[in-house]
Amino acid sequence: MDMELRELAGDVYACLQPDRGLGTSNSGLVNRGGGLVVDTFWDLPHTRRQIETYARVWKAPAQRLVNTHHNGDHCWGNQLFPGAEIIGHRLCAAAFGRERPEAMQALRDGAGSGDPTLETFARLLAGWDFSGIELRPPTTLMEDRLELDLDGMAVHLLYVGPAHTAGDVIVHLPSERVVFAGDVLFRLCTPIGWEGTYARWIGALDEIVALEPDVIVPGHGPLCGIDGAREMQAYLRYVQAEAKRFFAGGLSVLEAARRLDLGPYAGWTQPERIVFQIERAYRELRGEPFDAPLDVTRLFREVATLGRERNRPAQGAS
Ligand SMILES: [Zn+2]
Repeated sequence: MDMELRELAGDVYACLQPDRGLGTSNSGLVNRGGGLVVDTFWDLPHTRRQIETYARVWKAPAQRLVNTHHNGDHCWGNQLFPGAEIIGHRLCAAAFGRERPEAMQALRDGAGSGDPTLETFARLLAGWDFSGIELRPPTTLMEDRLELDLDGMAVHLLYVGPAHTAGDVIVHLPSERVVFAGDVLFRLCTPIGWEGTYARWIGALDEIVALEPDVIVPGHGPLCGIDGAREMQAYLRYVQAEAKRFFAGGLSVLEAARRLDLGPYAGWTQPERIVFQIERAYRELRGEPFDAPLDVTRLFREVATLGRERNRPAQGAS
């Protein structure tokens, strides 16, 4: 559970978790005007450690939280900020209970089942403990834009969804030239997306670039500049084009994922999560709405299958 505190500008910090796959997200702190934290972590032990990390620089616990979106790895620690104002997009709050801590805990405890997919997830989740989590959704809801003034520091919350989820919000500090991107930006790790379209996700990254930040704190992976946003755009464009070709050829999502040559992106962590991005491309190609539910069980099963195949190249299934 190693976490790194990085000072990005005066009174602006990030708490970074090295990317180890599922759930190792990043967070931010604006240490002014009572304090504002961008995203909590996936479980209570990790969020306690996050709070200890920030406590090295803050005088008192932050009075405001922003949730960039509803995925648990960005908000399941909210309850450890009792009394804080929780800010998020209306669609983030609306989606809050869609993922359940009890279900994740059951997955985590699934080792020994004999089912290879469940074994994979039990192993991936072994470092997390989802017990005791009470969901605390945002109660201060925003639409397109919310501007705060923290003791003279401008903090702009901008809605950029539906890109990675329907309720994606980024946090921009214009004077400090910092953007907290949430999961609109995955850096050097394979993105998973939920509700949204390729066009909106690429557009959201354009919006980040247009803000001309010096530092971007991605939802997952190391700090970067606008080059990180550009590279993620290139990835999305490439995967979308390849998926279109495979769709036209009648390939299943899993078969397309097997055939897709990841090229320069092959070194990103958990490349098998490409299954999600191909499914999203297929969803659009089938003419379905951006929020048509994904069959998460099937997709994770295919992610696990692909992961096993990639780890056993000599017995590759193609
Ligand atoms: Zn995330």
